[in-house]
Amino acid sequence: MADLFTVLTPREAWSRLEPHLHPIDRVETVPTSESLGRVLAEDTSAPVDLPHFARSSMDGYAVRAEDTHGATEGLPAYLKVAGEVSMGQPAGVRLSPGEAALIHTGGMLPEGADAVVMVENTRGVDAAMIEAVRPVAKGENVIRVGEDMARGEALLSRGSLLRPQDIGSLLSLGITRVPVFHRVRVALIPTGDELVPPETDPGPGQIRNTNAFALAALAAKAGAVPVVLDIVRDSYESLQAAARQALETADIVVFSGGSSVSTRDMTSRVIDSLGKPGVLVHGVSLRPGKPTILAAVGRQPAFGLPGNPASSMVTFGIFVTPAIYRLSGCRRLPQSLAVKARLARNIPSAAGREDYVPVKLEEKGGDLLADPVFGKSNFLFAMVRGDGVARVPLDKGGMMAGEWVEVTLF
Ligand code: AMP
Ligand code: MG
Repeated sequence: MADLFTVLTPREAWSRLEPHLHPIDRVETVPTSESLGRVLAEDTSAPVDLPHFARSSMDGYAVRAEDTHGATEGLPAYLKVAGEVSMGQPAGVRLSPGEAALIHTGGMLPEGADAVVMVENTRGVDAAMIEAVRPVAKGENVIRVGEDMARGEALLSRGSLLRPQDIGSLLSLGITRVPVFHRVRVALIPTGDELVPPETDPGPGQIRNTNAFALAALAAKAGAVPVVLDIVRDSYESLQAAARQALETADIVVFSGGSSVSTRDMTSRVIDSLGKPGVLVHGVSLRPGKPTILAAVGRQPAFGLPGNPASSMVTFGIFVTPAIYRLSGCRRLPQSLAVKARLARNIPSAAGREDYVPVKLEEKGGDLLADPVFGKSNFLFAMVRGDGVARVPLDKGGMMAGEWVEVTLF
């Protein structure tokens, strides 16, 4: 069992956990249109050429490039309008030398044409005749067959986290269903004798269980399926029973609370009682979030997060979110959106500890300013008022107003 006095840096802590994160290999097929945020389970390649017909990339006139050679404003090329290409239909016209056909962006290039003159570079003479005032080269303003994707070309590989543009491109190739890994299930266990469900008016000394739901929302944001368990009282037996239930129903188990001195050892004893390797890390040089537990029971990662609402959210973001992505089969952990900003005020810290401070962002004189929101106690509300969290690196004993900080956006 790891003990709280050997506090690790966040990076060291992560590297102890990482070898115990095994991607789940359960695969299902889902409609591509509903695959946002899912992780692709197989490599994909284009089953067809895209486009499958030569298309115009401009509004203008389909022409034979050679008919426009040498055309200028003063000496334009005169072209006979042979017809119009309708959208969504095979080009009905066939160009003979000296002819052009009106065409729209995305229209199918007619037979005989090999380029498109932009409408801006033409002048109408009469209904049957135009002037081209610039020459075009063969293939100009035309998207060739297979130019976007050639049949057989690799598109997305196994382990890709599907984004809106991926969905669009898969569908454009006719790939309407995709194999993806199952969503990771994350069990959230709220612990504490003081907790009541959010629907209940808390009596004296009681508070609402909010963590389970805020953490469930974070899990959902990372593409997992959260499973919120009933509130567990601070007793070894009830904690152990809840943990067993969680291990049966979920891939990842997260305890919230139980970091106070009286109960601190209980969570880690319960985790150790469930199987090997048990607790891997207990204590991280983080603020908020020092009493964090990282563990694994067999192939299932387990986390003991401090009950303080903000601590639980910060530590979830640092450890549980990347663990979810790993189990999801993601090849690359998605980068969180971060900006650089100048600190508006000093932030105290201690060297050897990573601090996370909620900040409000404001644009001033062309610079992005990060103004710390120091909450008196409940940092959760500071997170509500803030736009992101600034990170004070491990080696810094605080940061001065005017220094650049990295702000991870909420
Ligand atoms: P603990 O880590 O159990 O010592 O809890 C630290 C603080 O967080 C205490 O003030 C708890 O009341 C509070 N807390 C613990 N669990 C929750 C929860 N599920 N929702 C909201 N606050 C909590
Ligand atoms: Mg507690």
